[in-house]
Amino acid sequence: MEFRLIDRLRERTAQNRGDVSLGIGDDAALLAVPPGMELATAIDTLVEGVHFLPGTAPADLGWKALAVNLSDLAAMGATPAWALLALTLPGAMAAEARIAFVDGFADGFAALAAPQRLALVGGDTTRGPLAVSVAVHGFVPPGQALLRSGARPGDAVLVTGTLGDAAAGLQLARHPAHGAVEPARAAFLAGRLHRPTPRLAAGLALRGRASACVDVSDGLLADLGHLCEASGAGAEIDAALLPRSPALLAAFDGAAARDFALAGGDDYELCFTVPAAGVADVQADLARLGCGATRIGCIVEGRGVRVRGEDGAWLETPRRGWDHFDP
Ligand code: ADP
Ligand code: MG
Repeated sequence: MEFRLIDRLRERTAQNRGDVSLGIGDDAALLAVPPGMELATAIDTLVEGVHFLPGTAPADLGWKALAVNLSDLAAMGATPAWALLALTLPGAMAAEARIAFVDGFADGFAALAAPQRLALVGGDTTRGPLAVSVAVHGFVPPGQALLRSGARPGDAVLVTGTLGDAAAGLQLARHPAHGAVEPARAAFLAGRLHRPTPRLAAGLALRGRASACVDVSDGLLADLGHLCEASGAGAEIDAALLPRSPALLAAFDGAAARDFALAGGDDYELCFTVPAAGVADVQADLARLGCGATRIGCIVEGRGVRVRGEDGAWLETPRRGWDHFDP
């Protein structure tokens, strides 16, 4: 049974890559890192009921399980190449349901993997509560990876795309009764939750230009907080500058939209710092790449992240979710 599933996964994710000497089928894959490159590797696990809602479409899960990992490579400025997949499927799932799940999962995974020419080279399939782990491997020229630790006081803080959409999409999925939201806007927010776009091209464009970079998975305050801590600096950002989509602003009031953008998480945008003189160039390049980049604040001496409210006063009241952060 497991072998049928693995065959289906292999067929649906097949990629021809010269650097894969041996893919799915043996006890281990054999892979060749291109000469002169450094290997960047990351892993993330999605557990039903913790990281995704029960009933999530298998294809969405396949996309997202890979997307959250590619986002980590993007944040390092690495080019993705290979992935491993550990699938845990409930024993109670009937054989046909297992096959339907794996087919859908593989199709969602491949929809994101194929344009990147990323090869699924192995994994593990086991029984238990529904959970998915993907590990990704990519390449970066030595010394050129984007680290969290290079931000310096005076650098500008920027973020790609828009923030808060996925958290808003999750809120709508959990509380379908929430006021009337135009179907197209609700679909946009749901898409941002289920099919995040890893900012791989942006990550490459930032090599040699961003002083520090992190992807926003736990929420801007948390992840910018990690960047600041690693850099031994602080940050001041302006709530009024947070990039928010028309759909988010139409579906939620200002305070909710701001909190989603600050602390919602699941955005998979890049938050990065650039010496002030380089900001305009970087913004022009990322605009050309389609995601854009918004300047939201700057790095300062000290530690922690402070947020200036729309009225100019520092936000002090801890809001929902803020206990994870250390302002
Ligand atoms: P082993 O018992 O030696 O670990 P398995 O029977 O678990 O081997 O797997 C057989 C082959 O199928 C291996 O090459 C493994 O990498 C691959 N494989 C198993 N599960 C998956 C999966 N979910 N996705 C991709 N490849 C898988
Ligand atoms: Mg073996």
